[in-house]
Amino acid sequence: MLKRITLLGPPGAGKGTQAKLLAAKNGLSHLSTGDILRDEVACDTELGRLAKGYMDRGDLVPDTLIIDMIKGRLDEDSGFILDGFPRTVTQAEALEKIILIDVAINIALSREEVIRRLSSRRVCRDCGKIYNLLYNSPKNEGVCDACGGELFQRDDDRREVIENRYDVYIDATAPLINFYKERSLLKNVDGSQPTELVSDQILAALRSS
Ligand code: AMP
Repeated sequence: MLKRITLLGPPGAGKGTQAKLLAAKNGLSHLSTGDILRDEVACDTELGRLAKGYMDRGDLVPDTLIIDMIKGRLDEDSGFILDGFPRTVTQAEALEKIILIDVAINIALSREEVIRRLSSRRVCRDCGKIYNLLYNSPKNEGVCDACGGELFQRDDDRREVIENRYDVYIDATAPLINFYKERSLLKNVDGSQPTELVSDQILAALRSS
């Protein structure tokens, strides 16, 4: 089993959901820069205060902050799944200097589908479980099936912020598809399918790497 994986793809492609599944099945750690930043904001740390404005607008947090934040968290000996990192070529180049990854999985999704999905996404405030009111709604409205926690809509899942996040993805992050292709590390999967099928495709891609 490959141990160092990064998941690429636009916001809403299912990186978080797939990273959690893969991590649980394969004993890998799940590193989501978005989750780490949201924790920093919630704890009102210096980094959280610096990052919040960018996040609220759907812009990227500056590379230097992200690279410093991720550095101490990448362990040579344990496998990991990166979710939402790297997000720029500068971050990918910095990552290469810290540790080499084994494979980059690109979960592809169209702009229309990104907007449709993100505006229907809800997250559990307590355990972080992700729902989608379109195809994976909770049994009781507003309540997490797993832990009974309250479901909420992320501030950056509002329509105008979603559109900016997608544009930022195209400008800053999509170039990573070529970056990893040139290094023969890229695998593509179709993110428009149901979660289990995407998960199967990812496992097949990992087996064939
Ligand atoms: P996510 O949960 O991955 O969609 O991230 C939420 C927000 O956190 C993004 O819209 C960015 O503002 C910020 N963020 C997360 N990861 C990164 C990153 N690698 N580089 C810059 N900003 C990031």
